[in-house]
Amino acid sequence: MLLDVTQILRNQDEVLNFDEKISLDNKEFKQERIEFKEPVYAKGTVKNVGGVLVLEMEVSGSFTTVCDRCLKEITGNVSFSEEQSYVKSESEEKGEDALYLTDKKIDLYDLTIKGVFANLPSKNLCSEDCKGICHKCGADLNLEKCKCKAEDDWNPQFEILKGLFT
Ligand SMILES: [Zn+2]
Ligand SMILES: [Zn+2]
Repeated sequence: MLLDVTQILRNQDEVLNFDEKISLDNKEFKQERIEFKEPVYAKGTVKNVGGVLVLEMEVSGSFTTVCDRCLKEITGNVSFSEEQSYVKSESEEKGEDALYLTDKKIDLYDLTIKGVFANLPSKNLCSEDCKGICHKCGADLNLEKCKCKAEDDWNPQFEILKGLFT
C-alpha cells in the first residue's frame, strides 16, 4: 500500500487525508500464533511542513489467536497511533527520526505492520483468571478438576524444611 505524495510535496501546508484498509501478510505473525482475518484500518493525514512530510495515523484491527494458558481460540484487538516524518531523498536535512521518501511515495503497509508488531498485547488470555490446562494430563482446568491436581498441591517449602531437620 503506497501513498502517492507527489501533490502535497509541491505546496507548503498542503494536507493529504487517507483512510485505508490494509491486509496484513499473516506469514509475518506465525510465530505469535496470530492471524488477521480482516484488514486493519489506517486513517490519518500527511502534511507538508516546510518540505518535511509529517504523517499521523490511527490504526485499529482485530486478530484471531489462542489463549496463552488454555489454547482456546480468542479474538484480540490492536489499536495505536503513529507519527512519522519523511524528507525527499535529495534533501540534506534529515531529522533524526525522519525517513527518506522513495519515488515520492510513502509505504503505508510497512509503517502499519511495524506499528502492529510494536503494539501487540504481551499476553493473550481468554479471561484474566483462566486456569489453563494441566501440563500432565491436558485437562482444561476451567472445565474440570483433573486427578493430577492433588499431587501438584504439595508444598515444596515444607519438603525442604523437613529435609533440614532430619
Ligand atoms: Zn484460557
Ligand atoms: Zn491433570
